Amino acid sequence: TGGNHVVEYDPAMDDERRRRLDVQADIRRGLEANEFDLEYQPIIDFITGTIIGVEALMRWKRRAGGPMGPGEFIPAAEASGLIDDLGMFALGRAIAEIGPLEGIKISVNVSGVQLGNPGLANAVLSTLKEWGVEASRLQLEVTETFLVAQPERAKRALEALRSKGIAIALDDFGTGYSSIGYLRQFRFDRVKLDRSLVADIDRDPVQTALVESTMTYAYAMNLAVTAEGVERREEAALLSRLGCREFQGYLFARPMTLD
Ligand code: C2E
Ligand code: CA
Ligand code: CA
Repeated sequence: TGGNHVVEYDPAMDDERRRRLDVQADIRRGLEANEFDLEYQPIIDFITGTIIGVEALMRWKRRAGGPMGPGEFIPAAEASGLIDDLGMFALGRAIAEIGPLEGIKISVNVSGVQLGNPGLANAVLSTLKEWGVEASRLQLEVTETFLVAQPERAKRALEALRSKGIAIALDDFGTGYSSIGYLRQFRFDRVKLDRSLVADIDRDPVQTALVESTMTYAYAMNLAVTAEGVERREEAALLSRLGCREFQGYLFARPMTLD
């Protein structure tokens, strides 16, 4: 290739590209064939012991070629623009299914790619209207990726949604680069502490201090805090002592079908 560089062809490069294209074609087919479903994981108020909301999580268990997890098909959909259709499917289904369960908040993951789409706020609002669900019952979970890449655009997108009464949660807090500074720069309603911060918090004093200071800061900014991936009683007990009252994790409930 010049400059004393040699590139050696490796068939594996093609295999990977082909696999991704195959997955993308398959997602399109799966949407068409109505193979996608949602499961819901309860979010618990630790003080009252009640379910305050559910997070909708996409599933592709009925895929013709065998089940595939969201960790694989979501990135493939994001890379191809299919995430707009897939994401709107999840939003519509969650609002239709959980809408009738009064008092339960509906939390749906939204990809950065969707946030970049200027039509998102209107699409969400018309879905809410269609099912007669109040905007205040909906929360969208966003991760930092899009916020880092396009901060100004992200700010506008989040404000358009918040001004209609839809809550915004910063997901996976504690992974990647998102720091306390993010909570200032963008306006959120809630922070979701990632499982990596929560796991074994009772066994690591540095982690305890980190979570405690994050929570102090969040509450000072009037943000709610949800701890994700809580698996052990000891984790919940310590988090609760630090002032956290919203919990999500296998200790309380796994993601489950609507029934
Ligand atoms: P996430 O938004 O961080 O969702 C939480 C993940 O943690 C879920 O994995 C859930 O099943 C898992 N989890 C919940 N409690 C526990 C626990 O106590 N311990 C452990 N080890 N794990 C727990 P899942 O369902 O495999 O989803 C993976 C990711 O796929 C989600 O991570 C989210 O980023 C993405 N995803 C799922 N559905 C959608 C969707 O509709 N739209 C978009 N854009 N992304 C989605
Ligand atoms: Ca999430
Ligand atoms: Ca998360």
